[in-house]
Amino acid sequence: SPTLPVFSLAGRTAIVTGGAQGIGEAIVTGLRDSGARVFICDINDEAGKATAERLGVEFVAADVTDSAAVEAAFDHVVSAAGRIDIAVNNAGIVHNHPSESLSDGDWRKVLAVNLDGVFHCCRAAGSRMLAQGGGSIVNTGSMSGHISNFPQPQAAYNAAKAGVIHLTKSLAGEWAGRGVRVNSVSPGYVGTELTQRGMDNEEWRRAWLAGTPMNRVATPAEIAPAVVFLASDAATFCTGTDLVVDGGYTVW
Ligand code: NAD
Repeated sequence: SPTLPVFSLAGRTAIVTGGAQGIGEAIVTGLRDSGARVFICDINDEAGKATAERLGVEFVAADVTDSAAVEAAFDHVVSAAGRIDIAVNNAGIVHNHPSESLSDGDWRKVLAVNLDGVFHCCRAAGSRMLAQGGGSIVNTGSMSGHISNFPQPQAAYNAAKAGVIHLTKSLAGEWAGRGVRVNSVSPGYVGTELTQRGMDNEEWRRAWLAGTPMNRVATPAEIAPAVVFLASDAATFCTGTDLVVDGGYTVW
């Protein structure tokens, strides 16, 4: 194979939350194609199992907002594979609503999945990786952790994603001396179910494309290689970094 050996994930075990579809599914495919044994972890049992079967990988169910369920999912992976080398904490949701009337419940739900969920998974991965002497964690941030999106209102999402990027840096510092790297990938607009409502809205779609120098949205497959890179030994000196993959959105 012409691939530089440091990019190989042969012999590694990985878990990808939100791996049933969209960006997570592309990450699962990328990790698998680089040689890893991959477990999809998702709240959606039916889609998760179907995707796992189609891709020839394994499935474990968990709602990332439930820390006990997250611990059980990581236990499942470690008991099946003996170790956990790569954790991609990617599950996320969006809620678009004007902040002046956003309910407590909707604020909490977005923070629960997008920030609490990432912490639960980082803690579950980090504790096991520290005990085994190493590992690589990649969190899915967003350009929304750097800019605030226009024209749709989504303050909770943006705040959660800024939190993910800074949580990533905080954990990177705590664990760097003990072999565990923690990085994030921050996509711009990607064509998935999460953005479909916006792409169907003429005003939003026009603003999204006009704000993106490349004048298009990404495919999930254009995000996955950045995750594979950070997960691999090609990135052994990267920790606490946020790799922005946004078609140039944040240059304007
Ligand atoms: P998606 O809606 O297509 O997929 C999200 C997946 O996460 C689904 O399989 C869903 O079942 C799962 N999920 C949701 N809540 C969960 C929970 N509580 N526990 C476990 N799994 C759960 O979305 P996507 O566009 O593929 O987004 C993936 C990640 O990328 C998210 O963190 C999102 O915020 C981020 N992101 C997306 C875009 C974009 O434009 N699509 C841009 C930047 C960042």
